[in-house]
Amino acid sequence: MLSDTFQTILVKIEKKTEIDSNKLKNILEYIQNKPIYSYVYPEVIEEKLNIPISECMKIFVYLEHFNVLKQVYKLYCPRCKDVSSKIYENINELEEENECEFCGEELFEEDNPYKYVIIYFRVIKNG
Ligand SMILES: [Zn+2]
Repeated sequence: MLSDTFQTILVKIEKKTEIDSNKLKNILEYIQNKPIYSYVYPEVIEEKLNIPISECMKIFVYLEHFNVLKQVYKLYCPRCKDVSSKIYENINELEEENECEFCGEELFEEDNPYKYVIIYFRVIKNG
């Protein structure tokens, strides 16, 4: 069962999009069981709920509008083959701070600013 808040969000998103309401409901139920400040990953949703990553991303973006999820960012270093321990709350932070904390490699390319950015979704409301 969805909480009243999540049920309201579901109805609102349903009206605006063609996203399958069962899929949406399954994702919301999944998020409801996650602690605040934990992370949800499209890859896990795909595996667990059999919802393609592309659809999942769309739903996540909608859920961000309703303050259920928040996008945060990490940097990936191809030389270290590792992700930053730091989590960036704001995409603009990455313009100023874009060196690999391990090897110092600059992880920014003018023509493809998001090349090394990995997006995570943090749960900020779970019911
Ligand atoms: Zn590195």
